[in-house]
Amino acid sequence: MLIRDKFKNKNPLISFEIFPPKKDYPVDTIYGTVDALNDLRPDFISVTYGAGGSTKDTTVDIASFIKNKYDLSALAHLTCLTSTKDEVEETLNSLKGKGVRNILALRGDYPEGAGADYIGPNHYKYAKDLIAHIKENDDFCIGAACYPEKHLECQSLDKDLLHLKEKVDAGVDFLITQLFFDNETFYSFKEKADKLGINVPIIAGILPVLNKNQVEKIISLTGCTLPKKFLRVLEKYEHKPEALREAGIAYAIAQIIDLLSWGVDGIHVYTMNRPKTTRRIIESITNIRGVLANEEAS
Ligand code: FAD
Repeated sequence: MLIRDKFKNKNPLISFEIFPPKKDYPVDTIYGTVDALNDLRPDFISVTYGAGGSTKDTTVDIASFIKNKYDLSALAHLTCLTSTKDEVEETLNSLKGKGVRNILALRGDYPEGAGADYIGPNHYKYAKDLIAHIKENDDFCIGAACYPEKHLECQSLDKDLLHLKEKVDAGVDFLITQLFFDNETFYSFKEKADKLGINVPIIAGILPVLNKNQVEKIISLTGCTLPKKFLRVLEKYEHKPEALREAGIAYAIAQIIDLLSWGVDGIHVYTMNRPKTTRRIIESITNIRGVLANEEAS
């Protein structure tokens, strides 16, 4: 099923992100993870595309496995910066051939040391160029990325939002956010996006933090900020890994409950391929939603 159609029937969506095994590891090492996540019956599972297209084929294979074995909607990430237009076309054909109809269309990151001349006429420069191409030639459902705290390369959030508006107008059906730890940042971003007429659903990306190294790496990769209350948790439990893990899961659950109360379009859990953690989070939300549904019915 196309993800854009799911927003019509049900709100909010719950989805998960997984990443393919590293090169040289057999692709089926991920299938146990998919199996466990399928038990939670999310609205879709997304599969990342390794930096520089390093997991091109496995991303397609895993997305196809999710769709065809479990009858679950799969969202295949696809980056364009490090592939030629012909190579992108090959991947699109391969997805089509395997029945995967949902794409998260991304630019990707520049390889280290790449200069201004890296992009030639055979490449798409921005995600919006890839999106316009897909929209013109096919009928995929297209998702794209957005950044509540702005993209690292952009000078300001206002400029980034103008670029986002162009991207959405090129043919985006829904957006998924970069992870964030302060919901107020997301609410303010959503308000600004609304004012610009960015009116596709925006799914909030949530990462359950499990250890301190993970947080440090994420901050350097994404530039996201940590609110004081989260910094306190990190400081308090920094040398108690088990407690930090529990606090990280509890923090993610609290964030999600707040987002659901606010009326978010969807929650996308960055699972880090950890189905047990994901299960704990989803079960907590499901219990709350179940109680609410019962109370409303009585
Ligand atoms: P774009 O939307 O093209 O934006 C990139 C930059 O260009 C921004 O700073 C934007 O402001 C600027 N820009 C856009 N249009 C213009 C214009 N007309 N003029 C000047 N500047 C402009 N990376 C992977 O490698 N694999 C993945 O699977 C992956 N999955 C992701 C999933 C999510 C939900 C998110 C949030 C990110 C993901 N990324 C992934 C990271 C992403 O590839 C990087 O953040 C990348 O640097 C930007 O990609 P984009 O599609 O957002 O680019």
